[in-house]
Amino acid sequence: MSNWPDSIARPAIAAMSAYSARGASSGALHLDANESPYAPPPIKGAADYNRYPGQQPLALMARLADLYGVPANNIMLGRGADEAIDILLRTFCDAGKDSVLICPPTFGYFKTAAQIQGADIIEVPLTDDFTWDSKAVLTAAPDAKLIFLCSPNNPTGNIIEGDLIERLCQACPNSLIIVDEAYQEFSSTEGYVSKLEDYRNLVITRTLSKAYGLAGVRAGVAIAHSDIIALMRKVLPPYPIPRPVERAVMAALSPAAMSLHNARLSELLSERSRLAEGMVKSEFVRHILPSEANFLAFLTHEPESMLRALNKRNVKIRDFRSKLPGLFRITVGLPDENTIALAAFGVGQNEVKPQRVAEVQRTTKETDISIRVNLDETAPIDIDTGLGFFDHMLEALAKHGGFSLRLKCAGDLHIDAHHTVEDCALALGLALKTALGDKAGIGRFGFVMPMDETQARVAIDLSGRASMTFKGAFPSDHVGDFPAEMCPHFFESLAQTLGAAIQIDVEGDNTHHIIEASFKGVARALRPAISRSYGDAVPSTKGVL
Ligand SMILES: *Cc1c(COP(=O)(O)O)cnc(C)c1O
Repeated sequence: MSNWPDSIARPAIAAMSAYSARGASSGALHLDANESPYAPPPIKGAADYNRYPGQQPLALMARLADLYGVPANNIMLGRGADEAIDILLRTFCDAGKDSVLICPPTFGYFKTAAQIQGADIIEVPLTDDFTWDSKAVLTAAPDAKLIFLCSPNNPTGNIIEGDLIERLCQACPNSLIIVDEAYQEFSSTEGYVSKLEDYRNLVITRTLSKAYGLAGVRAGVAIAHSDIIALMRKVLPPYPIPRPVERAVMAALSPAAMSLHNARLSELLSERSRLAEGMVKSEFVRHILPSEANFLAFLTHEPESMLRALNKRNVKIRDFRSKLPGLFRITVGLPDENTIALAAFGVGQNEVKPQRVAEVQRTTKETDISIRVNLDETAPIDIDTGLGFFDHMLEALAKHGGFSLRLKCAGDLHIDAHHTVEDCALALGLALKTALGDKAGIGRFGFVMPMDETQARVAIDLSGRASMTFKGAFPSDHVGDFPAEMCPHFFESLAQTLGAAIQIDVEGDNTHHIIEASFKGVARALRPAISRSYGDAVPSTKGVL
């Protein structure tokens, strides 16, 4: 058999025909798969649970093709990148005959999957400075069917520099060069997906578990030449992607959610720097490796006293001393979590007041909204609703309210602004209320009366009970694409989910100025009300708000 890639696959796999799992169900009368005609008893969204899902669900494959910038037939979707690794072994390695090459310390499942399949393992360890020994890898590679390289590498966090991957692809036409890019989203480098056009024996694995927070959902991919993918799909078990998984991934990768992912990613990267800068000052830390991932690998001289200090604060990190003396790995957490970790390392303050952060994702048929607020930071402020004037008003609300706000809304603006404005208000009120938490130490009340040629008098009470009154009249009915009547409606919706009494009394001659004064007035009144500078007590005689 000389047909590539059949010639390098296990002969049994090349020779067999694929199991015929049904494609995505069409509108047809499906009497072909022995399914139950009854949907299960009421579970939300379960109307199609009686039907097998697509083998590689179409809508999800289209979304992933867009995410990774390759056609869908270059992708095999499985239950995590782990399954992609397993399928590579099962497709290409015969027990007792074929070998895989790995560069330890690296991701442990490469070896486990090889052992399960009975493939031999060739190890070419990283050098003393944790880089790849290119010469040794290139010398050993022709004997290996699969060459697993991890970049950014787990657990060291560094990336493969130079042209090792390209040279392997050229030197080993009958091997597959697999680059595991589970942490690529955290890297400042481009990664290898764009090289797939140049090398048909290159395979990339990516996952939704790390950067997209979907580890519990189990979804990851292999990306490669369509002939490689076709062989791998033959080995993939029937219907590996349950319908609830497809829904969860589609929701987590919606346009509004992508803006949230970007916000989180930039927070994680700045936290990675802060954690590293703090940890170098720790007496326990001897050396921190440069990281392009969401973790830091480091060496310690004093593992036992370090572990005792971490234990006292109940901070768990990963111990790699069995792979290399003194090697540990710490994952970058939320800002407050990293501050606690740093305190455990003996760096920074001991008392940590958690920041008041909340995220809200609200998706209906009319709008798809994601919001992140931080009441204890003033930046970033990043608003995109598709309505220019409304963006401007929300910016003013966050800026003069003194809080950080990221808000992205994809709404049915082809109909009108109503749903977008109303749903943003409802979601923002909920986000503010969630961030306020038990309201300990807040001001609760706020009053303002800005003097301008337009006057707005605003009073706010974060009482937990919703009410809104608006006194004012608009000389014109629109400002740009924003209907003036939506101004009071916005505050009414906000008050409803925030649980606040908001009173607005506004006078002026210009509709733009009247709306602007209302937003700025509410913002300035909100500022002292949400401010946490009044000790620890809840500002209510009842003790709760
Ligand atoms: C976490 C991890 C994986 C597994 O990803 P899943 O998609 O959750 O299976 C694969 N490779 C590396 C290097 C990892 O760290």
